Amino acid sequence: MASPSPQREKLRILLIPFFATSHIGPFADLAFHLAAARPGVVEATVAVTPANVPVLRSALARHGPGHHAAVQIATYPFPSVDGLPPGVENHSTVGPADAWRIDAAGGDERLMRPEHEGLIRDCSPNAVVSDILFYWNADIAASVGVPCVTFHAIGAFPMQALATLIYADTTKASGGVVTLLEFLGPDVRIPVTELPAEARSQQPDVVRAAGAKLSSAHSSCFGLVVNTFFDLEDRFCDMYVRGMKRAYFVGPVSLPPPLQLAAGDDGSRCIDWLDRKPARSVVYLCFGSLSHVSEPQLCELALGLEASGKPFLWVVRSEALVLPEGWKERVGDRGMVVAGWAPQTAILPHPAVGAFVTHCGWNSILETVVAGVPALTWPMVFEQFITERFVTEVLKIGERLCRRLIPSEAVAQAVARFMEPGGVGDAARSRVKELAAKAHAAMAEGGSSHGDLRRLIDDLIQERTTGAGTRSDTLV
Ligand code: UDP
Repeated sequence: MASPSPQREKLRILLIPFFATSHIGPFADLAFHLAAARPGVVEATVAVTPANVPVLRSALARHGPGHHAAVQIATYPFPSVDGLPPGVENHSTVGPADAWRIDAAGGDERLMRPEHEGLIRDCSPNAVVSDILFYWNADIAASVGVPCVTFHAIGAFPMQALATLIYADTTKASGGVVTLLEFLGPDVRIPVTELPAEARSQQPDVVRAAGAKLSSAHSSCFGLVVNTFFDLEDRFCDMYVRGMKRAYFVGPVSLPPPLQLAAGDDGSRCIDWLDRKPARSVVYLCFGSLSHVSEPQLCELALGLEASGKPFLWVVRSEALVLPEGWKERVGDRGMVVAGWAPQTAILPHPAVGAFVTHCGWNSILETVVAGVPALTWPMVFEQFITERFVTEVLKIGERLCRRLIPSEAVAQAVARFMEPGGVGDAARSRVKELAAKAHAAMAEGGSSHGDLRRLIDDLIQERTTGAGTRSDTLV
C-alpha cells in the first residue's frame, strides 16, 4: 500500500496535563485551539488517565459538538499509589487527606516516567506539549527525536516570582517581608508567611534541587507555552522568556466564550437565577477546584454574605456544608448556593454578576479578566498570594476581601463597600473592562495570542521538516 503523501500528513501533537481539573481544562482548550487554527493540518490528542476522561470530555464540550472531530483522547494508566483507592486520579476530586498522594504520585519521576514513556512511544506524535510538572517529558521527547513544549498553567508574573523566590533566602527577609520582582518594580511586597511552602521550606536544598530539574527541562525543551496574553503581563512576559529558546503567549485559552448550557442542568439553574437579578448586583464566589475551606470559615462567610445585604451566588465544594441555623430562610432567594461544581466561564460574563470573590487561581483570574468582572481576593495556598498581588497591586482590578482568616463582619463590610456604586469596585471594573477588550482582541484573528498560536504550529512544522528527525516533508 502506498504511504500517504508527506504534504498530506498531519502534524500530530500529544498534550499531557497534570492530574487536576484546573490543568486538564486549559490543556483541553489549548488542544482545541491548535486543531481549530489549522483544520486538517494539526491533529491534537490529549492524554489522561482513565478516571480523568470524563473531566477532559466536559472541558472539551465547552467548545461545542465539533470538538470530537478536532481533538482526540488517549489514555494511559495511573500508577498504583499506597493509600489511594483505584479510580482516584484527580487532585480536584479528593479531600485534603488524599490530595497530597496525587501530587506526590504526579511529581514522582520514578513512578510516572515509565507511564509517559510508554504513552509517547505508543502515540508516536510529531510533538509533545507537556505540563511543566511532568518535567521528564522533555527528556523522553528528545529520546524519540520530537520537540517538547512545556505548558504553564499559571502566568508569567507568578512563575517568575516563584522562580526567583526559591533561590532567595527568605529567612533573611527584612521585617518578615520580601519584595517580589524588585528590580522590575512596582514595589510589590509580601510577608514570608504568605509565600508558598516551597519558598519557606526548611529544606531549601531539596526545593532548589527540584527547581533545578524544572529549569533544566525549561532550557532543554523546544519552547514554553503560557496561558496569558501580552497586554496583560507585557514586561513580565519579556522578563520570563529571557534565556528561553522560544515562548508563546497564547491565552486566555478559555476564549471563545462557552456555548449556551443545556436546559435543566445545574448550570442553567444558575443562569436562570442570575437572569432574575439586576445588572451587576450579584457577588459570585468560587474557590477553584483544589482549595479546601474549613467548616468554621464557611460559616463566617455565610454570615458575612447574609449581613452584606447583597445578592450572591456561592459555589461550595463541600457537599456536607452545614449552614448557620435559620440562614437559608433569612437569606431566601437573595442567595444561591451550589454544592459541587458550577459552570464558571458561563456565570462570570452574565450581566448580573458584579464582583467575583476568588482564591486567585490563575484560570479564575483569566476568566474574570475575560468577563470584565472585578475581583475580591481571598487567596489560600500555593502561588495564590503572589497572584493576588498581581491582581490588586499591578493590574488594580480588585481588592483583598480580608486577611487569611475571615470574620463575618469583615466579609460583610468588604463586600458592601466593593459593590457600592461609584466606589472602589466601579474603578476596578472600568480597568478590568479595558483588559477584557484586550483579551478578546488578543485571541481574535490578528491578535497577539492568535499570532503566537500560529507561530507555535509553524515552528513545530518547521522543526519536523528541518529538525533532528530524518523526515523532510513540509506542511504549510
Ligand atoms: N471551575 C468551574 N466550576 C467550579 C469550580 C471551578 O468551572 O465550580 C473551574 C474554573 O472556571 C477554572 C478552574 O475550575 O477554570 C479552576 O482553576 P483555577 O486555576 O482558578 O484554580 P485551582 O482549581 O487551580 O485552584
